[in-house]
Amino acid sequence: MDKDTEIKSLQDKIEKLTKLQSIRSDIVSVSAHQIRTSLSALKWVIKMFMDGDLGKLNAEQENLLKKAYEDNDRAISVVTELLQANKAEDVIEKPYAFTEVNIIELIENSIFDFSGEALARKVEIIFLKPETRLPTVNIDKDKFRVVLQNLLENAIKYSNPNSKVFIALREKNNFIEISVKDRGIGISEEGKKSIFQKFYRDTTAQKKESLGSGIGLFTTKKIVEDHSGKIWFESTENEGSTFFVTIPSFKENT
Ligand code: ADP
Repeated sequence: MDKDTEIKSLQDKIEKLTKLQSIRSDIVSVSAHQIRTSLSALKWVIKMFMDGDLGKLNAEQENLLKKAYEDNDRAISVVTELLQANKAEDVIEKPYAFTEVNIIELIENSIFDFSGEALARKVEIIFLKPETRLPTVNIDKDKFRVVLQNLLENAIKYSNPNSKVFIALREKNNFIEISVKDRGIGISEEGKKSIFQKFYRDTTAQKKESLGSGIGLFTTKKIVEDHSGKIWFESTENEGSTFFVTIPSFKENT
């Protein structure tokens, strides 16, 4: 086979694999959504029985229904994780579309997305906005939102109840630095070497939160680096963690 034919054959193979990957991802997504819809419908039926809306229950019936409700809830969480992991891969594969974005607004929107979750876990999110005006940033809004969501979600998830999560923002040497600080479980020495690896989860994190994919920080790092940025953290076990992200600030030519 000459070189051109070989290249053409490789290109065909790559195209075929990309198509297959996209079909596989769509099948997972559609099936997981259908399963989650059925499980959610079931959840409300069980809840109606438990609340006595369909007649009074005896103690044994109540106990069994409670178990069914909890099992169903766990299954919903597993399917949700599956959907998130699938989405994370999609997010990475989609081409980047950079635009000029007001980072403060984007952070405020992300905090709003997590207000319910924070309330449920008794964690207060405090945004320390900079006093001076910041330049806009040139980012892919959808992808960067994933970065903020993952950092916020982890900070809330691994926080202790009745504690605070601080998000701060500042400009430093033509970079915008975002930090997310929690007073949670912290990261073990082994974790410090591995948390950006795909599927890695600290043992303490698994104990606190049985559900998690270990894919969030892997995706986050990739997206930050695709923005010519950096991500790192400082953490002490049982005291908390702070994650830092820097991305170049965008100054208009004058
Ligand atoms: P997940 O949270 O789904 O497990 P991530 O990729 O987001 O996956 O994080 C990987 C691991 O890094 C977590 O399982 C946990 O061990 C650790 N980690 C991430 N963020 C924090 C945090 N804020 N506090 C403590 N541990 C964290």
